[in-house]
Amino acid sequence: MKKFPLIVAASGIAALGALASQPAQTQSKPGLEKLYILNCGEGVAGDISRWSPGVNEGKSMDFVDNCYLIKHSQGWMIWDTGVADAIAAMPDGQKPADPRATHWKRPKTLASQLDQLGVKPADIKFVAVSHTHPDHAGNVEMFPQAMLLVQKAEYEWPNPLGVGRFKPEHPVTKLEGDKHVFGDGSVTIISTPGHTPGHQSLLVKLPKAGALLLSGDAVHFKSNWDNRGVPAGNSGQDQSRASMQKMADIMAREKATLWINHDKAQRDSLKMSPEFYE
Ligand SMILES: [Zn+2]
Repeated sequence: MKKFPLIVAASGIAALGALASQPAQTQSKPGLEKLYILNCGEGVAGDISRWSPGVNEGKSMDFVDNCYLIKHSQGWMIWDTGVADAIAAMPDGQKPADPRATHWKRPKTLASQLDQLGVKPADIKFVAVSHTHPDHAGNVEMFPQAMLLVQKAEYEWPNPLGVGRFKPEHPVTKLEGDKHVFGDGSVTIISTPGHTPGHQSLLVKLPKAGALLLSGDAVHFKSNWDNRGVPAGNSGQDQSRASMQKMADIMAREKATLWINHDKAQRDSLKMSPEFYE
């Protein structure tokens, strides 16, 4: 009777030995393959001092709004979903209530850009938004089956409308900090609270293009980053500065390039879908 467990243990060791002598097949899978930048809005910010108090008062600036479509061997992920596709049908776009904020237009729908790539909304495995402002979360429900990856602090942030920030039936993983999306370190959600209570950014390590840090709205445009400007309307001022420092540390460690979601000058220098980065 006592010998039985020993036999099991011995065969277990033999199996491990056999595994160790095999080539590591799981590591030869391609993993992260490519990243597309989608046009998820174009607008004019009425007064950019809104994002950097005391700097450039009354100056307007063209803004863009990006979504990022990521192809991994385990499935598709979309990072941020832009302003609602319905805005594409509004001839004059969507005027903000506060003229200092951003007047958004949508030259192309998100749906049409996915269609152009042959990607169906049902193909999207993960949908993650940097935060729940409408220029980022405008099309989350285009992907009702996709696992939503969002910080618990954002999910539970009380909504002034008195309803949840997401549909309660949407499948969700509520995060409390950083998270490897595919378990291989190629795509990592980085908790960067401050703009909103559960704001997050995304570190993407592409095989050829290298490491990219997608800002979300932890920063709005380059001079805003250079000056560590914190918008007056952010939910946490100290938190915002700490998150920018965390991002700077990650960029130094990973040799990552910062891609600022709303920065038009930067986007004008990048390849847009259907071109891609790999
Ligand atoms: Zn935004």
